[in-house]
Amino acid sequence: MAVATDHHYRAYTPAPLTKSDIDEVEILFGGLHWRAERLLQAVFENLGYNARPLPVATKDDLLTGRELADIGQCCPTSFTTGNLANFLRSESERIGAEQVKDRYVYVTAGSCGACRFGQYHQSYELALKNIGMEQFRMFLIDQGQPDQGATAGGGLNINMPLTLGTVWALLAADVVQGLEYRTRPYEVNAGQTDEVVRQCVDELYEVFRNRPAKGEKWGSIVWHLSTNYFVKALREVFRKFEAIEVDRLQPKPVVKITGEFYLQTVEGDPNYNIHRWLEAEGAEVYPAPIAVWLDYLIRFQVQSLEDYVGVDKGARAKVAALKSVQKVFGWTYNRMRAAFGNIPHEMPDQYELRRLAAPYFHHKLSGGEGDMLVGKALWTHLNKKAHMICELSPYSCMPNTMSIGAMAGVIGQYPDLLYAPIEVKGDAEVHALSRCQMILTEAKKRAIQDYVAAMETTGLSPETAKELLAERPEMRRASYRVPHRGAAATAANLLYDLADMTAERNAA
Ligand code: SF4
Repeated sequence: MAVATDHHYRAYTPAPLTKSDIDEVEILFGGLHWRAERLLQAVFENLGYNARPLPVATKDDLLTGRELADIGQCCPTSFTTGNLANFLRSESERIGAEQVKDRYVYVTAGSCGACRFGQYHQSYELALKNIGMEQFRMFLIDQGQPDQGATAGGGLNINMPLTLGTVWALLAADVVQGLEYRTRPYEVNAGQTDEVVRQCVDELYEVFRNRPAKGEKWGSIVWHLSTNYFVKALREVFRKFEAIEVDRLQPKPVVKITGEFYLQTVEGDPNYNIHRWLEAEGAEVYPAPIAVWLDYLIRFQVQSLEDYVGVDKGARAKVAALKSVQKVFGWTYNRMRAAFGNIPHEMPDQYELRRLAAPYFHHKLSGGEGDMLVGKALWTHLNKKAHMICELSPYSCMPNTMSIGAMAGVIGQYPDLLYAPIEVKGDAEVHALSRCQMILTEAKKRAIQDYVAAMETTGLSPETAKELLAERPEMRRASYRVPHRGAAATAANLLYDLADMTAERNAA
C-alpha cells in the first residue's frame, strides 16, 4: 500500500550572504587544473572577494563522496562532493563548525540537462547534511546566464565583470597549459618548464588581480573585447619560454586527451594523474582546452535556437547574434594563442565536429560532451593532430557510456584510429593504465614511422638535422613554433620544417 508523505521536493536555497558578510567570507571553488584555478582566484580578488581553490581531489575524497552522498553517482560527483566535505571537516576540527559555516561559502557551476551535472548541488546538500553542516552556503553560477545579478542577500554579484574575467582567465590558462605541454616532453633541463610555467602563472595572477574596473555591463564588455591588456601580458610571459632549450628530434607519440569535462581537465587522482603518467611513458600530451567546452556550450545554444527558425519571428536574428558571439570568442582565443607564438593547439571548428560526428551521434543529445567526443576523436585522427585518443570516461556516466558505444561504429569504419577509452572510478588505476599502455605501444610505433617517413622524404638523417639545428639556435628554443606539416609527430614536422628552410636558404 502506498504511503502518503508530506515531504515535497524543494530546490536547494542557500541562506543569504549579505554585503556585510562578504568581507569576512572566503569563497571556495575547484574542479579545474591549477593554472585556471589560480587565475580565477585573481578574478575574484580583483572584484573584492576573498577566494581560494580547494585542494586537488584525492582518492580519500572519492570514498568520502560515495559514503556521504549517492554511492551510484558518477565519479566526478563523488570526487567533488567528497573534496568539499573533507575540506570543511578538516577546517571544523581546526576552527570549529560554527566558524566554518560563517567563514566559507562554496561557488560552483550549475546546469540543467540529461546528466548529473544538473544535480551536483543535491549531492553537496546531502553530504553537508550528513556531516551536520546544513547551514553551509553554496551558490550556483548558471553557465548559461552570464549576468545573473546578486545572489540572495546581495553579497555575491554574478555580473559581467565576474563572468568576463572568468572566461578570459580560462582562455589564458588554456594557452599557458597548451604551450607547457608542447614544451616539457622535449626540455633539455628537467624541471625547467615547470619552473617557467609557475613564474608565468604568478605574473598572470597579478595581471588578472589588477584588471581595471570598467563598469558593470557594457563598459566591461567593450573593454574586454578591445583591450590589449591581457594579450600584452601574455606576450611578456611568453618571453620566459625563450630560455628553455628543447630537443624536439625525439619521435614521441602525441596523445589527445578527451572525455568527460572534469576528468579531462583536472590533474591529479581523479584521472590517475594521466597527463604526467603519459609524459613519463614518453608521450607528448595534447590536453583538452576548457575553451573547446565553452565553444560547445555556445554551439548547443545555437542549435536550440535554430529549431525555432520559421516558428519564432526573432529566431533567425538570435541565431545570427549568437554565432557572432561565438566568432568573437574564437577570435579572443586566437589572439591569446598568437601572443604565445601560435604554439598552443587551435580550437577545432564546432560545426566541423558536428558534421564529423553526425553519422554516429545525434548533435542534439545533451549531457556530458554530447557528440563532441566523437567529433573530436575523428577530427584529431583525420587531421593527424595526434597518434591516439585517450578518452577519460567516468564510472557511472551515462553520456560517456553512449559516446563509447558510438565510438565502436567509428572504429569499425576507421580501424587505424588508436582509441583508448579509460574507465575512471578511482580504484582501478592499474587496470586503466595498463589498457592505455597497450594502445600507447602502438602509438609509439606510429611516431617512429612518421619520423622515418620524414627522413626518407627530406633526405635528412638525425645527425644532419642536429647539425642544421646547431646553426639555428632559435629552433632549439621552446618559443619556436614547429609548423604542422601533415605528420602527428613533432619530430617529423621538425624535419620537414628544416628541409624547407634549408631548401630556401640554398635557393637564395
Ligand atoms: S558528464 Fe557524466 S560524469 Fe560528468 S556530470 Fe554528467 S554524468 Fe557525471
